[in-house]
Amino acid sequence: MPKEITLAKFAGFCYGVKRAVETVKKLKKENPERNICVLGELIHNTQVIEELRELGIESLKELPQKGNGICVVRSHGESPEVFEQIEKSGFEVYDLTCPDVKKVQQKAIELAKDGYYLVIVGKAKHPEVIAIKANADKYSDNVIVADCIEQLQPYEQELKEHKRIGVVVQTTQMISTLNEIITYLTPISKELHIANTICQSTSMRQKEARELAKTNDLVIVAGSKKSANTTHLAEILTDITTTIHIESEQELDKYTDLIEKSQKIAITAGASTPQNIIENVIKTISNM
Ligand code: SF4
Repeated sequence: MPKEITLAKFAGFCYGVKRAVETVKKLKKENPERNICVLGELIHNTQVIEELRELGIESLKELPQKGNGICVVRSHGESPEVFEQIEKSGFEVYDLTCPDVKKVQQKAIELAKDGYYLVIVGKAKHPEVIAIKANADKYSDNVIVADCIEQLQPYEQELKEHKRIGVVVQTTQMISTLNEIITYLTPISKELHIANTICQSTSMRQKEARELAKTNDLVIVAGSKKSANTTHLAEILTDITTTIHIESEQELDKYTDLIEKSQKIAITAGASTPQNIIENVIKTISNM
């Protein structure tokens, strides 16, 4: 029997990533003589980073002391200090922070200014979270990051004493993580202000993938293992059905048996996975 292959509607680039990639390319096209670089990798995808490099757009591992031309701030955003440093080193800043990430930063500032003890639900080392925290730190000493209860427990007494707790969320977090943290905070706070700042693109992608997982024997998640939204997607689906997370179609070889015995296969992809990788995955499975 031929296999039934379903591609998720919300697979691949989200609007924030699409905007970042298209804008950087346009910037180079309109300024061919100027140095255009990105602080960090624009997105979690080696193919796209290589394509940008070939166009003359370098990804900077760190900010040089002296720079010239345009330095792009990627969709994860940066701290106010980094913005200042970019300008000080001689670059013109081009800010491509995703508007949804900006909203989290603004909400975090607002809650910090209003005197809430701020809990940022997210991965402490993720660049987006580092920038959100740095923005809130300017207005309060009571800002912490946690993506599980164990990370909150050392602050329990402080949180209880403070009574007013504010919560914002990394845009690509799982709703289950937010729920777990709210359940922990509710009994120890007098006033709990929750801003569910998981972005719409992430919510829709996760919701659709959950539905697909319920009706398919196997779900394939394509995208970088460094990408937060892609790894969360795979984590969510693993609890529902057999799931494999691959960076590209080349990894499918390892799963030949599994793919052969699965009749209904769904494919989804993270927000930084280019269309050609998704197409190659579909082609390879169809030919198996
Ligand atoms: S995942 Fe959401 S917040 Fe992140 S770039 Fe895409 S749209 Fe923006």
